[in-house]
Amino acid sequence: MKITHDIHTHTLYSLCCYDPEATVQAYVRRAAELGHTVFGISNHLWDEKVPGANDWYQKQMINYGLAARDSVPADTCGMRVMIGAETEYYAMTDTLGMLADTAQRFDYILVPHSHVHMKGKVCPDPDDVQTRRAAMARKIAESMPYLSEAQAKKMAGTLSVTDLEALVYAEPTDLAKFYSEQMINSFEALMNNPEFIKMAARVPTSVAHPMHACCIPREQTVAANWALPEADLRRCFEMAKKLGVGIEINTSCFNPADDYANEANIRTMKIAKDVGCKFTFGTDTHSLKGLDSIRKGDRISELVGITEDDLLDVAK
Ligand SMILES: [Zn+2]
Ligand SMILES: [Zn+2]
Repeated sequence: MKITHDIHTHTLYSLCCYDPEATVQAYVRRAAELGHTVFGISNHLWDEKVPGANDWYQKQMINYGLAARDSVPADTCGMRVMIGAETEYYAMTDTLGMLADTAQRFDYILVPHSHVHMKGKVCPDPDDVQTRRAAMARKIAESMPYLSEAQAKKMAGTLSVTDLEALVYAEPTDLAKFYSEQMINSFEALMNNPEFIKMAARVPTSVAHPMHACCIPREQTVAANWALPEADLRRCFEMAKKLGVGIEINTSCFNPADDYANEANIRTMKIAKDVGCKFTFGTDTHSLKGLDSIRKGDRISELVGITEDDLLDVAK
């Protein structure tokens, strides 16, 4: 199926976007050229009414994100152009980055549960890293007895994983198992989060890059994706279906080599399709050029078996 929407896009309003051409105006123009009928901007946003934002999110609050609406050109080339947001879910504290009330100011919301690089918020350190940190804190405390326990812990906490590896031995964690468990547990926790349930009932909501541990070395993500147990995926997607929450096909997560033969996300999405979930497509682009990668979605939809009927209403 030719995909004619893209509702996961970041413009210069997202602090991780560095392309000077990534403006709303330029995106709208290019999206129309690509044949889209529906187009959405979804910058990273955290609701100031929700405590707990990290430094990065503190600079990306609600009005900042809504300002994108003022940049939508009067002539949208016949497309429906929407202003959405990609908020955040901190599984470690069961915190959704946006209230349902606030979400109603947007046309739709994408909620990620898989930004696992946000250690201590979205995901804990793997066990071996935690063991190494604790051992390092003890070593620091022993060699500098005038430090408080908290100071020693803080110093050990600033060391990178690589530094710790060089300094303290610990049995390495099975990262495929670790991240796949994180994905299942955080997805399930999100589906049970009362604010999320409220949000999903009021505003079109889709899970961004579901089950795909992001921003860690690619081989770790791939191994974790293959390790996701089918029964757990099925249970998670059934919860999403019940809430009417969309499952995102995020083209940036799919490796097209050998016609996607080694892409675990195809298997994951087939399970979601089999359960009866509805889908949204997005490039998750952070550049003007990246919008073109929506074309990967055409083939992915065929391989997964997604047709127009399987799209979430907001994407139609
Ligand atoms: Zn994301
Ligand atoms: Zn994104």
